[in-house]
Amino acid sequence: MGYLRLEGLRKAFGGQTALDGLDLELAEGELVSLLGPSGCGKTTALRIVAGFEAADAGRVLVAGRDITRVPANKRDMGMVFQAYSLFPNLTASQNVAFGLRLRKAPHRDRRVAELLELVGLAHLGKRYPHQLSGGQQQRVALARALAVQPRVLLLDEPLSALDAKVRVALRDEIRRIQTELGMTTLFVTHDQEEALAVSDRVGVLSHGRLEQLDTPAAVYREPASAFVAEFVGVTNAVYGVAEAGGVRLGAFRFDTDAAAGLTGEVKVIVRPEDIGIAPHCGPADGALTGNVVTHSFLGPVTRLSVRLDGGEQVVRVDQPSSRAGDFPPGATVSLDLGAGRVMVVET
Ligand code: ATP
Repeated sequence: MGYLRLEGLRKAFGGQTALDGLDLELAEGELVSLLGPSGCGKTTALRIVAGFEAADAGRVLVAGRDITRVPANKRDMGMVFQAYSLFPNLTASQNVAFGLRLRKAPHRDRRVAELLELVGLAHLGKRYPHQLSGGQQQRVALARALAVQPRVLLLDEPLSALDAKVRVALRDEIRRIQTELGMTTLFVTHDQEEALAVSDRVGVLSHGRLEQLDTPAAVYREPASAFVAEFVGVTNAVYGVAEAGGVRLGAFRFDTDAAAGLTGEVKVIVRPEDIGIAPHCGPADGALTGNVVTHSFLGPVTRLSVRLDGGEQVVRVDQPSSRAGDFPPGATVSLDLGAGRVMVVET
């Protein structure tokens, strides 16, 4: 049985559905991300778990206990928000000590020192928030949330206000600390790379419902729906017409089991790294051909955009950067859409 359970959560704001029957279970010590586009209900779910918002229906349970009607301050949850949530008139140490003081916890100074050490700020306890960088402030916020030894840690886009490098460093740090403490954690983010990088499992939300809940690798490699495939990672959508056992893209016919049972106009969803590419010189002998339009250097890989012959469709194809020079802009190429790796859906 899950340690943190969300059962059939529903919430509407003035007729607008934010959560449409959300079920979710986290094992003890697990980090699950809720990932989805703006407005899909992530923050509402987190706020209901925290007790800041009341659900219209459904329950929240921690360790088997129904806390749906327990007030926020009695829920034993630690929370870190987007940014700027520290008390500006308190030092880093005083911020971390805040909850401990309220609870009259013993050995507060030692505990504060341990927590600042844990988040790598042992030397900055006397600083006020305005004397700390954004990343350091979020470390203090994390230490403050952990100070009261919460049963569950709730993270609401805690990295979104930070610049790219700090964001990556801090997300790894959060993961290290969370694992070290075995802290059951629900992490809300709209950043799919972040969710994939730090989570045990990722829940992809759309319109207040879970589309898929699975490991990062499964969500990326075996998306349960076209929405998940297109939201998580980069994909191409190539439009064609389903035929028995395949899809017709202009003059090219592409055999794939993924089109089984489909008719009419379809969309082939395929990741840039799954498309094969080769120089093409001979006549168009049924191969899918196109012309390289641009190169985007992304470090280890270079992303080529290729305009398919006979239309305006452009697909992105990843190549190791060391090989991308074989396909300069203007080159005619043939493409292999990687039949085993595509998803085909009706449009
Ligand atoms: P974002 O990534 O933009 O924060 P989100 O996935 O966290 O989005 P929520 O904040 O949970 O989405 O919002 C879900 C839906 O509920 C949205 O349509 C939003 O406009 C609406 N909503 C959320 N809070 C309120 C509120 N207090 N009053 C009215 N509508 C609200």
